Amino acid sequence: MPLIDGIGNVLGLPYKILLWSWKVDNHAVSEKTEQALVEFLASTSADPALADARFRLNQYSPLDDLHRLIINHHMSWPFRLLLGVPTTLISEVLLPGRLLGGDHYNPFTNTVHIYSDDSAITLHETGHAEDFAEQSYPGVYATLRLLPGVDLYQEYMATDKAIEYFIATQDREAELHAYRILYPAYGTYVGNYVAPFGNVAGALVGHVWGRCKAHSRANYYRMIDAAPTPQKAVSDRDAAIDAALETAGVALREKEQPPQSPVREISRP
Ligand SMILES: [Zn+2]
Repeated sequence: MPLIDGIGNVLGLPYKILLWSWKVDNHAVSEKTEQALVEFLASTSADPALADARFRLNQYSPLDDLHRLIINHHMSWPFRLLLGVPTTLISEVLLPGRLLGGDHYNPFTNTVHIYSDDSAITLHETGHAEDFAEQSYPGVYATLRLLPGVDLYQEYMATDKAIEYFIATQDREAELHAYRILYPAYGTYVGNYVAPFGNVAGALVGHVWGRCKAHSRANYYRMIDAAPTPQKAVSDRDAAIDAALETAGVALREKEQPPQSPVREISRP
């Protein structure tokens, strides 16, 4: 691992603890996570803005990000100028995620930045890109985030897209993991509204909530697995009918025994 990523890995310790995963901000995005991203993108609608999105896995490319800010024709230029320039200068130039971590989506450059080796986090950030791609006015949508509470809606949408994808593809392991890491992440946003450093308390609530959700979903899947399949139900039903017929057959045969002739009861004198 290059030295810068080793330092970044250590600097990411607070986020690792907050989300309780060593893979958060580990600056070593595996092929498995990359493959999950590729498969997710293949499953999404062919939205032009999403097709033009850039995905940076542990990269620091300030010049290219500034270039993308200029050429991102999916968002009106006033939004890119007034909000995009300061946001991009701070997030992608002055505070390099390659060192400081912080997975995020920059809607002004239409670029997803990933530093954690976690498929749920990666798909959450890509969910932001998909959410913005679906907007008719992405510049307005990005600006609205400045209003209190709007971030909670946008974070919900991104998390929902990731979890719905795992459910649709029946990737149970990934789905259960997503509750455990995306719920505490969401809790940090909620907690920020409640009190200073409320993000820590929010994350704790999110951990409890996410684990409860994962537990109930795991129970649900266990119940489904234990339930008879339609094929098994039919064979069980046929076996029951066979058994019933067999019993009825015995009963019928018993009934079919010819009654004793009353003649025999008459004794000859
Ligand atoms: Zn997010």
